[in-house]
Amino acid sequence: MTNIESTRYTNVCRVAVFIPLRQSFDYLIPDHFHRYSIQPGIRVLVPFGRQNKIGVITHSKIHSSVNRKRLKCIKTVIDGKPLFNHSDLHLIEWAARYYHHPIGDVMSSALPGLLRKNRAAELPAETILCLTPQGEAISLDSLKRAPRQQELIKYLQATPARLSSTKALNKSGIQWRGCLSPLIKKGLVIQEKQIPDCESSSTVSSLPLSLTTAQQQAVDTLLENTHQFGVFLLDGVTGSGKTEVYMQLIQKVLNQQKQVLVLLPEIALTPQLEERFRARFPVSIGLYHSGLTEKDRCTHWLQFQQGITSILLGTRSATFIPMSQPGLIIMDEEHDPSFKQQEGFRFSARNVAIRRAQLLNIPILLGTATPAIETLHNAQTKRYQHLKLPARAGNSVLPKLKLLDIRNLTMHSGLSEALIQHIDKTLSQNEQVMLFINRRGYAPAYMCHQCGWVARCPRCDANAVVHIDQQRLWCHHCGSNSGLPKKCPACHGIKLEALGVGTERVEKFLQQRFANARTARFDRDSIPSKSTLDTLLSAVQNDEIDILIGTQMLAKGHHFPNVTLVCILDTDQGLFSTDFRAAERLAQMVIQVAGRAGRAEKFGQVILQTRQPDHPLLLTLINHGYSRFAVNTIQERVQAHLPPLSYQALFRTKSTNQASGLHLLQQMRTELEKITDEILVLGPVPAPMEKLAGQYRYQLLLQSSQRKALHHCLNRIIPYISTLKISKLVRWSVDIDPIDLY
Ligand code: ADP
Ligand code: ZN
Ligand code: ZN
Repeated sequence: MTNIESTRYTNVCRVAVFIPLRQSFDYLIPDHFHRYSIQPGIRVLVPFGRQNKIGVITHSKIHSSVNRKRLKCIKTVIDGKPLFNHSDLHLIEWAARYYHHPIGDVMSSALPGLLRKNRAAELPAETILCLTPQGEAISLDSLKRAPRQQELIKYLQATPARLSSTKALNKSGIQWRGCLSPLIKKGLVIQEKQIPDCESSSTVSSLPLSLTTAQQQAVDTLLENTHQFGVFLLDGVTGSGKTEVYMQLIQKVLNQQKQVLVLLPEIALTPQLEERFRARFPVSIGLYHSGLTEKDRCTHWLQFQQGITSILLGTRSATFIPMSQPGLIIMDEEHDPSFKQQEGFRFSARNVAIRRAQLLNIPILLGTATPAIETLHNAQTKRYQHLKLPARAGNSVLPKLKLLDIRNLTMHSGLSEALIQHIDKTLSQNEQVMLFINRRGYAPAYMCHQCGWVARCPRCDANAVVHIDQQRLWCHHCGSNSGLPKKCPACHGIKLEALGVGTERVEKFLQQRFANARTARFDRDSIPSKSTLDTLLSAVQNDEIDILIGTQMLAKGHHFPNVTLVCILDTDQGLFSTDFRAAERLAQMVIQVAGRAGRAEKFGQVILQTRQPDHPLLLTLINHGYSRFAVNTIQERVQAHLPPLSYQALFRTKSTNQASGLHLLQQMRTELEKITDEILVLGPVPAPMEKLAGQYRYQLLLQSSQRKALHHCLNRIIPYISTLKISKLVRWSVDIDPIDLY
């Protein structure tokens, strides 16, 4: 009976509603809707509970298993044309399944903020004033008595297309508003709306370079495969000319009238790449990152979706942007952890981009000097093609890495005397110095000399960090802060001491020691915005800065021709972490940082301060480079059954009540033991920082050597969680392929 019921009615569609539930919902299509107005990829307004919600149709004609009487009707159709095509929707559904994340949330994160609301998906149009044939023919003399009308007609008659946007008229100072309606009445002028063309550079100033043999090989291999899916790892040392390879490939794809999506880890890297692309390609280039206004994001999204822009440069949020003529996807600095979203919809942009290229049947190029261990493993097992650029292009040579043993040395704000000598020498040659320390602020601890009291964050399991300029204590985890006490709150003693070193302290010391040198600090405190960063970066380019001090922020991609000395002050920090990926991160950091040195003709050197001069990781890296390090690391992971040789999912809980999260995970564990014995279940354990921002955090790790088995198990355990009463008191999340076990 139900079968007959459901087959008789095909006017039902399935909608991914923008709500945090792990399912889609079926809705009736009212008879008065035109059948063609209901297509997959179109946004609709639907009743949900007592509210109306927005969603996207994923399937237009389905046989619903829901009793027809319980189905509600679609309220409004928002779009005239689908925003997502079949392949886009396929990707979104796949991502929701793979990451076990609510499909409505995946769908809405694939849209720009403005289109998550009930707003038309229209490109902003501008008003155009246009001469009619009479307007073109009229003699200016006949308008003598209306000087303003005369002026407007004269202006329009002088333009090549006999029209002008009102924006341009405003700029020219012509008073057009008052005289428009009489001119329209006389039939001399008409007013129209028009979508403005994208700006593109009309002059090309950078010509393709003649490629090195290795570059040419990389380009040729890819060109043989432009018409089908394939993953290519462009493994090129820093400064080997990966960007030139990208550009020559992009040119070929543009010649085929197709589009290129270029993904970058950080907004900060977009300006220089954008500049290089604009100098090379006379086409319109779109941008998509969080530094744009909502309106601009929406415009760039629509322009790429409609094929108006040919190249799109974006951060991980651009991974899902629809392409009308897909040709190629490029992911630069593919190893960068910023490609993984760490909250909400926790997806890996690399993983999604690869799946996307597969669905679109186009190639994807992953570029980096320090491939992720996962990626290298895929290259070794021939799932990806491995393209290598082993040497720097042009005249620069790779810098030399050196360990500086600081055991038993007196340190001055984190710097050894030997290092200070190197800095001195570099400055005296009018070259620039770059110092890295992975901690901002003045000092990571504030302690009473008399009683041992240490300033802690009241809401986290963490020390408060001293910031001297502000005279405040800050928690770097939850942002709570307070004034720097002058007296010990415990014993009222006045001997309070800042312990350890951060960027602020290093800068203060260097300003004292090298009073004539100009310093600049690059961290989140000193660089509040992208424009400050841009200003500072160009000051470095113009040699207005001598010493750069920074956190990771400085490590990525930048090109500083006059930096010849790079120092890592706190190398050892990465050697003793509990996270199995810490070594990989350290190695990548060292090589990337080193890549900033000696990028022009001048020879560069890199100094790593360490108290572990015999540490095998450091020795391998220094003497044999990243690839040897990576080969060793893969072997270690094989032996320890760690990713990429196994697959993980991490459940995290947060709750104000300390016990609730733990209980939830314990109940899950019990259930998991009933469901399967194929999965390794580790925990529950407290998160490395158990208390954060007043919430208690626990985690449960699932691991399997079979991805399928893991996902099968997740499909059963996730629905089980919502049946638990305690789940109402706990916020929980699941992270597939976690890259940080915090
Ligand atoms: P990567 O992206 O690999 O770090 P870049 O593309 O920034 O390297 O190139 C580093 C420098 O080498 C740039 O100044 C670039 O113009 C130059 N370069 C790249 N390819 C060549 C080439 N084939 N011949 C000469 N110079 C090149
Ligand atoms: Zn005290
Ligand atoms: Zn805190």
